[in-house]
Amino acid sequence: MKQDLKRTRIAEVLRTGRIGSRYVVMGWVRTRRDSKGGFSFVEVNDGSCLSGLQIIADKGLANYESEVLRLQTGCSIRVDGILAESPGKGQKVELKAEALKVMGWADPDAYPLQKKRHSFEFLRTIAHLRPRTNTFGAVARVRNAMARAIHAFFQERGFIYLHTPIITGSDCEGAGEMFKVTTLELNYAPEKDGAIDFSRDFFGAPANLTVSGQLEAEIYALAMGDVYTFGPTFRAENSNTSRHLAEFWMVEPEMAFCDLDGNIDLAVAFLKQIFASVLTDCGEDMQFFNRFIDSSVIPTLEQLISKDFQVLTYTEGIDILKKAKENFEFPVDWGADLQSEHERYLCEKVVNGPVVLIDYPKEIKAFYMKINPDGRTVRAMDVLVPKIGEIIGGSQREDDYETLLAKIREAGLNPEDYWWYLDLRKYGSAPHSGFGLGFERLIQFVTGLANIRDVIPFPRTPGNLAF
Ligand code: ATP
Ligand code: MN
Repeated sequence: MKQDLKRTRIAEVLRTGRIGSRYVVMGWVRTRRDSKGGFSFVEVNDGSCLSGLQIIADKGLANYESEVLRLQTGCSIRVDGILAESPGKGQKVELKAEALKVMGWADPDAYPLQKKRHSFEFLRTIAHLRPRTNTFGAVARVRNAMARAIHAFFQERGFIYLHTPIITGSDCEGAGEMFKVTTLELNYAPEKDGAIDFSRDFFGAPANLTVSGQLEAEIYALAMGDVYTFGPTFRAENSNTSRHLAEFWMVEPEMAFCDLDGNIDLAVAFLKQIFASVLTDCGEDMQFFNRFIDSSVIPTLEQLISKDFQVLTYTEGIDILKKAKENFEFPVDWGADLQSEHERYLCEKVVNGPVVLIDYPKEIKAFYMKINPDGRTVRAMDVLVPKIGEIIGGSQREDDYETLLAKIREAGLNPEDYWWYLDLRKYGSAPHSGFGLGFERLIQFVTGLANIRDVIPFPRTPGNLAF
């Protein structure tokens, strides 16, 4: 046995392995079956792909009795062996062990991943071990492939990847409750005029975790043309839903010289390319989700890649919903924000596919969205998908100085806090647009996983910071 052989990942062995060649494989035991003929089948998985590799270990191994026959789920091993065609069902090749070394034992009485199937709720309580299951391994690989596809999409189109700050001094992003960042002692915070004196805090001013990189992305779009952010964002909203996290990853392209139509075109092209990439790059994992999680994920993605996205105005959407023979929990009226039940109804019952809803009433959207000539609606767009509802929220931004100033005042905000944002409309203003996509919602849609807590490695939700 050659000790200096390098480890080969199982994905690589299965894809390019040559029969009769020698390989070193390292991974974690999933199962062991012993045969009467004095040999054992050991299924080993190393996370590089869904499939494990079947190891044939026989009594010729020096440690067969003492170690191989004691192998249990969860043990980590190194196997040096020769790749052979497998006569058995279920796999094409197997590795005939010439040596098997146990690197780490896992006490079967204590190791929590013994049973074949565990509930997702239980697995959330062992977030340090759940990536060793088929489902969470597949999620991790799909998440990685999607992140790569997102960068590829923008880089191919000449977008600049922009790193916007996570700690922000502006509480003006207007997208929900923020987490405070402070080094003050909560019990002994300095006060001035009956309020906490943030001038004595770390930054000399109140600081928060960002809810969006959009405002900063606008700065760079109005210099670089096309930019995008892809980073963590934080919302302290106390919404315990299957679609909300306190910490999630957002993708935010921002484009100068681009109106709402261009924004919609980019969002649709973006989604289609990501879906196509996942189907090509993660075929095995997607088959797994389609078989065990939701039997509609692959057909749905395939359909979306070739289908036009239906564009409706908010007003048209409201008309449809008012006529619908459906008992909604929340009432529908022009001027009210749509709930996810409404969004899903439009996608699932009316259009049977994704919907791009545009031109929302200005009252329910952020101050920075460009006002339409009707004076009542703004150039907003939400991309809605079946089963999830909103996956993208975006708009054309107000680029007229006076209009924006008036909107800021109307919203009860202080224009002085927005001096730099207003400056962008004073010096070389240009039409510009962008959107924010929740990365985890996109992964939910792609994998069919019902709960957003299962598509991020370590979910942060109200009351939960276990890992
Ligand atoms: P929702 O109404 O669903 O809470 P939102 O209108 O607050 O969403 P935006 O502020 O437009 O969302 O944020 C852009 C995108 O970020 C959303 O379309 C969604 O995909 C995602 N997103 C927003 N809030 C969360 C959250 N708490 N957890 C995960 N993703 C989120
Ligand atoms: Mn929200």
